[in-house]
Amino acid sequence: MKSVSKTINVKRLILYPLVTLLTVLMLGEYAFVFFKKDKLEEQKKYVDTLTKTLSEMIQKEIIVVTSATSMLETLLRQDHFATTNFNDWSREILSINENVSNLQLAPGGIVMDIFPLEGNEQAIGHDLLHDPKRSIGARIAVDSKELTFIGPVRLIQNNRLAVIARKPVFRYKNQQETFWGFTIALIYVEELMGDLLSGLDDLGLNYQLIGSNPDSLTQPIIAASIQPISNQAMQYPVLVPNGEWLLSVEYHFESLTDDFLYHGLILLMASLLSYFAFIYERKSQLQQIELVSLNQQLESLAYFDSLTGLRNRRSASDIAQELFHLAQHSQVPLIVAFLDIDYFKHVNDVHGHQAGDVILKALSNLCAKSCRESDIIARWGGEEFIVFLPYTDLDYALVFCETLRKNISMECFMYESEKIEFTISIGLSEVAPADKSIEDVIKRADEALYLAKKNGRNRCEVSLG
Ligand code: GH3
Ligand code: MG
Ligand code: MG
Repeated sequence: MKSVSKTINVKRLILYPLVTLLTVLMLGEYAFVFFKKDKLEEQKKYVDTLTKTLSEMIQKEIIVVTSATSMLETLLRQDHFATTNFNDWSREILSINENVSNLQLAPGGIVMDIFPLEGNEQAIGHDLLHDPKRSIGARIAVDSKELTFIGPVRLIQNNRLAVIARKPVFRYKNQQETFWGFTIALIYVEELMGDLLSGLDDLGLNYQLIGSNPDSLTQPIIAASIQPISNQAMQYPVLVPNGEWLLSVEYHFESLTDDFLYHGLILLMASLLSYFAFIYERKSQLQQIELVSLNQQLESLAYFDSLTGLRNRRSASDIAQELFHLAQHSQVPLIVAFLDIDYFKHVNDVHGHQAGDVILKALSNLCAKSCRESDIIARWGGEEFIVFLPYTDLDYALVFCETLRKNISMECFMYESEKIEFTISIGLSEVAPADKSIEDVIKRADEALYLAKKNGRNRCEVSLG
């Protein structure tokens, strides 16, 4: 049978809520990591796609600018390098390529024609191949014979940031290819970018677009977010003629406050559940204790007398049966002593029923104390008690009963400062070979008791089998 404790199990009371707390915390944190990872992947993918699209759009703008230089070159060649119609060509080209800000011709590397001229007059005569701020880039274009894209650079004429496409133009003269000059298209950075990158700003992403300028030692920044990017940023190259720009975008993690809120909620939930686990465990333990105590009470009611605490008749009879069998089969002697209070009715009448109860309890205690451990004492009913004395012969039992009787007769019982004196009569019998059951022995003890009463009470009598 499962043993049940009568006290609160503190270990379990602490362990269960603790396990609940840890389990909920662990599950919460696992879910956090799981979903956070998922969300991050999603964000990464989104930023990835967005940035790729952006870099493609920038590239498209660049192609537009680039194509403007080629158109200018074509028209120049058509007019056999006569530049008188430059303004008409430029008007035509700009009407097609709206984003191009400015077109220039630089024969021999010196800027001679600009459209629109207004505000750019200062650039006329700008010797690109000999200006230390431009010469490297210009030289690269001539040497590579390819269109080069530089920028952003600050324009000498108006101090605005622009990216410049320079196409070196070569002509055949006397079977020889000679450098004619540059067809140039430029676009102001703010016009190139327009609101291309504002989408990144709206998303709160940090970004940076770096161009290339061979004439500058520092990396020219075309556009950047207010917050600088970290080295965690993802990088996307933007291919430009003769080089590469670099678009870097850094995605944000969710704000710390959101994480903090989540962890706080998990902790709160875990604490609440562990509190409930504590309450539940405590309640179930208390219920169990109550159940054990009720069971004990029931057991006690079934086997013991509620007034005196002695065994009741039923419980004593069961044991007596076993003792009787032992006596019959193993020749273990067994004595039955029947006790009855003399004139107990009178005690009740004089001192009251409650006093009678107190006497019954006191007498029970005294008898129980006088008995040996192997003796079985029980309240048989009313003011009658029975004692089964195994391993005892009649002589010893008689001495025991006489002593008990005398002690009781000399004892002064008190109830509400009133002295109560009484005596008992005892009838004894012993198991005889002819006895069929313990009832036979008890019957003889009862007869002996009757005799004791008859012979004047406060005495012991024996009935032999
Ligand atoms: P006797 O000497 O012949 O035994 O006389 P008696 O008065 O003791 O015997 P009787 O059988 O006439 O009365 C027994 C009394 O015991 C009657 C009853 O009120 C009382 N009694 C039985 N059980 C209890 C009890 O639990 N408490 C109290 N106070 N009295 C009880
Ligand atoms: Mg009686
Ligand atoms: Mg009596």
